[in-house]
Amino acid sequence: MRSQRRIYLSVVMLFVGWGQAEVGAMGRAEERLPNVVIIFTDDQGYQDVGCYGSPDIRTPHLDRLAAEGMRFTDFYVAASVCTPSRAGLLTGRYPVRMGLASGVLFPHTGARGLPAAEQTLPEMMKERGYRTACIGKWHLGHVDSFLPTAQGFDLFYGIPYSNDMWIAPEIPAAAELVLNEGVSAEQVERLRELSNFAWDATNKPYRNMVPLMRNEEMIEFPVDQSTLTGRLTDEAIRFVESCGDEPFLLYLAHPMPHIPLFASEAFVGRSLAGRYGDVIEELDAATGRLLAALEAAGVAEDTWVIFTSDNGPWLSTGNASGHALPLRSGKGTVFEGGMRVPCLMRWPGRIPAGSVCSEMASTLDLMPTLAQLVGVELSHTVDGRSMQALLRGEKREETSTYLYYGVQGKPAAIRVGNWKLVFDTPVGGTAEKSEKRRYAGKAFEPELYDLSTDIGERHNLYSQAPERAAAMRARAEEMIRSIESGAADL
Ligand code: MG
Repeated sequence: MRSQRRIYLSVVMLFVGWGQAEVGAMGRAEERLPNVVIIFTDDQGYQDVGCYGSPDIRTPHLDRLAAEGMRFTDFYVAASVCTPSRAGLLTGRYPVRMGLASGVLFPHTGARGLPAAEQTLPEMMKERGYRTACIGKWHLGHVDSFLPTAQGFDLFYGIPYSNDMWIAPEIPAAAELVLNEGVSAEQVERLRELSNFAWDATNKPYRNMVPLMRNEEMIEFPVDQSTLTGRLTDEAIRFVESCGDEPFLLYLAHPMPHIPLFASEAFVGRSLAGRYGDVIEELDAATGRLLAALEAAGVAEDTWVIFTSDNGPWLSTGNASGHALPLRSGKGTVFEGGMRVPCLMRWPGRIPAGSVCSEMASTLDLMPTLAQLVGVELSHTVDGRSMQALLRGEKREETSTYLYYGVQGKPAAIRVGNWKLVFDTPVGGTAEKSEKRRYAGKAFEPELYDLSTDIGERHNLYSQAPERAAAMRARAEEMIRSIESGAADL
């Protein structure tokens, strides 16, 4: 009896020692803190995964994630372009709260970035002793004070912003800088001087030449983009292997399939969907390698793997774009195709295998969910809600509501249950031409959609249900007031 009690006490002590605040919250007690892997692709559309109905892109490894975990049908991002979407994921807060709601950062906007006062996902996890790595694209500020290593990540290996940009003046070169494409050290300095002008049409040749960084330094310029997906995956695997028994957070933010599209030799011409398909199939194979590495390291069972995309497809790039069908539109809009993305989650024994979640959820939910899981107090108000019930396969208790911020940084739509009200101009700079033409030069008329019967947002029911629209507008105003009055809560 005494020895049984001693064992019981040891187990309790173990939980306390690991700081496991939510023991039993996921259905059973955990022996250790879970590892977390977030794979975040760029501009991958809702349809661009086999298990989301792609007719011509094969993704056996992503499909396996769905078969072994949960596929989300109604998963949203915080914005339909890169910078604010990433700010939302890493803080759990609408980007407007940190001055990052409007547009994206550029190499000549070095003074801007994710404010240091924000509590980030890696900062929170480090409070519980996690090792943290940001591998891939950052895009939340490229000067020292905004880089991943200043925001809670132990390691940064990747590109500082989008792969179609150019060199920023502030990023220091490492002593062992690798130069590609015949670029000389003098040309690098000349390109830095041109940085502020490089996005002019006259300087277009300088675009698509971005630095590869390790921590705060540029180690390769321009980065060889054709081998990038593979090299980022190699680095991610090395990180996993280096963690041993320590819990880790891996944020693997692939720069693809954002344009320009690059695939490695083994994948060029392989898919039935052109270069875009080749890129996705390489990302899929890379995901398969990472999953195999988790298994080889003996940590697959203890790892929550999350796969999603930062926003919808960049439809105005034509053949270089993916698809969001059956959703309407894509990147740069608050239509579903811009902000609803594919999302798969696997956590063996915790998330039911082969399940589908049709509840609304979003990247904003990751921060509060993880805070609960690892037992850390959030230091700020967050806009997401814990997903623990959803991960168990249960429904949320209350009706879900989501506010869609447009590219201009203004709230433009709200979803309450299956109803969606668009109350401000839904399109921005990167939207496809046909959508921009539809709204150009006219006063905006509200649009109301029943997503349960009209997932493609084709039938505006506003004139048939003005009371419902008015109630939704009032709810949106209430949310906006609450969010925007808290903008200075840091
Ligand atoms: Mg993007």
